[in-house]
Amino acid sequence: MTVLTNIPHQFGRRFVLAPLDFSRWQNILPLFEMLERSPLDTLAQLESWLLNRSELMDAIQEEGSVRYIRMTCDTENKDLEKSYFDYLEEISENVKSADHRLKIRILQSSSWSHLPSRRYFVLKRSFQNDVDLFREENVRLETEESKLSQNYQKLIGSLTVEFEGREQTLQQMSRYQEFPDRSLREAAWKAVVDVRWRESERLEAIFNDLLELRRKISFNAGYTSYRDYAFKHLERFDYIPEDCFRFHEGVEKAVVPLMRKIEERRARDLNLAKLRPWDLSVDPQNRPPLKPFQEAGDLVEGCLKITRKVDNRFGEFVARMRELRLLDLESRKGKAPGGYQASLEEARLPFIFMNAVGLDGDVRTLLHESGHAFHVFATRDEPLTDYRHAPIEFCEVASMGMELLGGEFLSEFYPNSEDFNRSRKRHLEGIIDILPWIARVDAFQHWIYTHPDHSVEDRRKAWLKLHRRFGGIEDWSEFEHFQATSWHRQLHIFELPFYYIEYAIAQLGALQVWLNSKKDFGKAVNEYWNALQLGGSRPLPELFAGANIQFDFGPEVLLPLMQFVEKELENIRE
Ligand SMILES: [Zn+2]
Repeated sequence: MTVLTNIPHQFGRRFVLAPLDFSRWQNILPLFEMLERSPLDTLAQLESWLLNRSELMDAIQEEGSVRYIRMTCDTENKDLEKSYFDYLEEISENVKSADHRLKIRILQSSSWSHLPSRRYFVLKRSFQNDVDLFREENVRLETEESKLSQNYQKLIGSLTVEFEGREQTLQQMSRYQEFPDRSLREAAWKAVVDVRWRESERLEAIFNDLLELRRKISFNAGYTSYRDYAFKHLERFDYIPEDCFRFHEGVEKAVVPLMRKIEERRARDLNLAKLRPWDLSVDPQNRPPLKPFQEAGDLVEGCLKITRKVDNRFGEFVARMRELRLLDLESRKGKAPGGYQASLEEARLPFIFMNAVGLDGDVRTLLHESGHAFHVFATRDEPLTDYRHAPIEFCEVASMGMELLGGEFLSEFYPNSEDFNRSRKRHLEGIIDILPWIARVDAFQHWIYTHPDHSVEDRRKAWLKLHRRFGGIEDWSEFEHFQATSWHRQLHIFELPFYYIEYAIAQLGALQVWLNSKKDFGKAVNEYWNALQLGGSRPLPELFAGANIQFDFGPEVLLPLMQFVEKELENIRE
């Protein structure tokens, strides 16, 4: 079965008139050359040029998305894989440099400064930043960086454990952590630790090489501090390192005590004097996993009903996606792991991919990806491709917000109130657990890049010190050596430096949307929708303000939010 046939394209082309032939870059290049040559003397020419560039980029990006989606839906088909890799090598690399030339061209045009400042503020800021940071000599270093990152992924992906008489991946091993049999959990945990520990020296070496490369890249771009470079590179125009420190402080004050309290309760429920690292995922009452649905069809039907209850138009979007077959949800042989939402840029439609097997987490994943999909529907009428995407700090407000808003109606899956409450509680406790981990990972990266001359030993000590600040109450004795390298499992630290706090910023936004909904559900949902419609056309503080929430992740916002979450948790009776 080939996915994505007959996708309607209702936004007509006016610049890319002939069908694009993606087999060779040479066939695409003339369109970029045409843009490079077009006159940009008047404001009208400039605005029309921006629309033409958008149309071209949309068509190119949609081709990449389609090839990616087809590959992940059928990994056994080698032609599909080849087609995607061809695209990456032949098209996408070249597009980056061609688009860079376009940005230089437009920045140098006489009418650039005359673009209306409100409408084009974000676009101008982003183009200027790209051009400022670009260095020809960094292209090669960045390729080297991504290859090194791939070494990390390959190494982690190749790790297997011999357990219960068969070879198992780390992902398969993680299931044991939910088993009621404590000695089995412990044995599984130790087996994984052994394998990871054996690779720790190699991983430290990869990381040191990455640090050296990153030092060179930022130096080439004119920065003495990699952190300053990374903040610009990530387009963090609206917050600075001190804001991140305020987040760490807020987590320490408002979240860590709550997390520890929940863990103490867990220890009591499990009847344990001490929690150990293998006691953190099992259901504290040793119940079997929740079973919200049998088949993917039931999952869609349930989510459709839930989203309709949140807001009728959301339900319509899910129905539309089902009708256009823009959902591939059930786990089956030959499908890539994980879940994602992808955009078909030219059709301006979303696609959702996941591997549902009938678990509680599947419902939450579909609500999450639906939130992203609604963002795509919300920005459909925006002609500029750059403005159809919000920064990740706000994209995740759309998705995490939908998890919380939709969570109110989980009785569609859990008619029995015990199951309903159990699912709700697990969701909220998961939020409380992840925030200190994000703070720890973020604080660690600030430490790493502001101590450029540190040794491997210093790094381990710094990570352990952060455990005392942000960690739980579980007892790590006998495993301190391993704990000092437990950051190795966080791929972002290796592959996407500094990128991680975004999820916390968004989660705090989503919690605020939810808090608003407790006062006036319809109003909060409308504000959420209005902010989604802004796409990426406004800076972050304005996107947050559009949803009637604060763009602030310090203690002043965190403390009342955590009090609210704690109260909600207390009201959940199991
Ligand atoms: Zn997401």
